[in-house]
Amino acid sequence: MNNMMLTLNAADVSKLRTMVAAVEKEMALVLGTLTTSETQPRKTALEMTWSNLVGMLDLGPEPEMRVCPECQHLCMMGATRCANCWIQLPAPATKAKAA
Ligand SMILES: [Zn+2]
Repeated sequence: MNNMMLTLNAADVSKLRTMVAAVEKEMALVLGTLTTSETQPRKTALEMTWSNLVGMLDLGPEPEMRVCPECQHLCMMGATRCANCWIQLPAPATKAKAA
């Protein structure tokens, strides 16, 4: 059996998240027009298949980023140093936890 590995970099994953969101938006628009009992099972099947596909992709939430104060490079929120200019980044501002 061919063991296929799909390796994506952070930019690809970010693009995928955007595309998944776009497809979901379009699906909601199209599926919103299908309300008869005839189309309902197909709608449910499509939603389940889509949800399985998104689950397989396992994209997770978009990572929080912040801009380096020195060089404006985009850094991960939890990073302690800028990956571009290596300055020490200040501790990320702690956000109030949503209830
Ligand atoms: Zn920097």
